[in-house]
Amino acid sequence: MRDFSYLRATSTDAARQAAALPGAMLLAGGTTLIDLAKCGVAEPETLVDITHLEGLDRIDVNEQGATIGALARMSHVADHADIKSRFPAISEALWQAASAQIRNMATIGGNLMQRTRCPYFRDPANFSACNKREPGSGCSAIGGVTRGHAVLGTSEACIAMYPGDLATALVAFDAVVHLGERKLLVDDFFLLPGTTPDREHAIEPGEMITAIEIPGSAAARRSTYLKIRDRQSYEFAAASAAVGIEFEADGRTIRDLRVALGGIATKPWRARAVEEALRGKVLESETVRAARLLAVEGAVDHGANHYKIELAPRVVARAILKLGETA
Ligand SMILES: Cc1cc2nc3c(=O)[nH]c(=O)nc-3n(C[C@H](O)[C@H](O)[C@H](O)COP(=O)(O)OP(=O)(O)OC[C@H]3O[C@@H](n4cnc5c(N)ncnc54)[C@H](O)[C@@H]3O)c2cc1C
Ligand code: SF4
Repeated sequence: MRDFSYLRATSTDAARQAAALPGAMLLAGGTTLIDLAKCGVAEPETLVDITHLEGLDRIDVNEQGATIGALARMSHVADHADIKSRFPAISEALWQAASAQIRNMATIGGNLMQRTRCPYFRDPANFSACNKREPGSGCSAIGGVTRGHAVLGTSEACIAMYPGDLATALVAFDAVVHLGERKLLVDDFFLLPGTTPDREHAIEPGEMITAIEIPGSAAARRSTYLKIRDRQSYEFAAASAAVGIEFEADGRTIRDLRVALGGIATKPWRARAVEEALRGKVLESETVRAARLLAVEGAVDHGANHYKIELAPRVVARAILKLGETA
């Protein structure tokens, strides 16, 4: 780890100004940033500590929706009674993310900004080729071990998977990220790798996440997050689905459906084709099983990650059918 200056921000404006300094990085819970600094991937010149900013840990929920401050801890949001009742998928996604110790430390803003777990990205000492870390240097994963890599949204420059659980649930429910004055759909906040995989977010120098806003809806109220992983203890998703359903008055016909996938794409992945195929249909297992394949339309594997193309549609179908059972 190289030397850096440490600056404790006393206001959001001061934090933004400091974030605009060349080589500045924000420090929230530190559960990702410190790891990345230790392995030589993150090399901040100035560490801007935002942990003491007042008011940014608020969680406000009403009929219209929820506003969650960037410094709210993962565990607090997961356990918030109104988040559990009005946005179960958000609470479940957070409960299944990381370990209890990490959830107690880590923040919502830091969670969205976490970086890929691509092992080549995290090992600069042994793998110098990584377009995300060093633009133009190549990609060590392509032709390497790809079991954890993405099958959707990839490019010839990068096939790294976006690993976060929360963002998947946020994308399903049209959540908006507040960057101070500017607001963006979480779906637009995350960028596809294309030819510039080093650029992962639409965030500009001098901006920081201040809050996340999630619109309230009947589909968000009847929602769930299903995560399949190699082990039940803390582990990133092999494939996951955030699903929400609103039924017509008959309790069987789908009025609104939200589906987003995690663990299989280079960014949180909204499966709109599945939503469109099932909207207006009666929820029956055969119909759901036919539509589930649309979740991975256009998927391309790199050998060892082929299983994700088969796994993801099953996760989607299981989550939708589970919500149907509770109707
Ligand atoms: C062993 C382990 C297992 C994990 N498993 C999972 C899992 O299963 N699912 C999952 O979703 N996550 C998982 N994580 C990731 C974990 O959730 C993140 O480390 C955590 O959410 C990051 O939050 P933080 O507050 O500690 O961020 P920090 O480490 O402080 O910061 C992370 C990044 O975000 C930036 N940042 C922080 N706050 C802001 C802000 N307000 N605005 C702009 N930029 C900001 C920082 O500059 C830094 O680049 C795991 C982590 C570990 C170490
Ligand atoms: S997949 Fe992306 S992050 Fe991983 S080595 Fe290739 S360029 Fe780097």
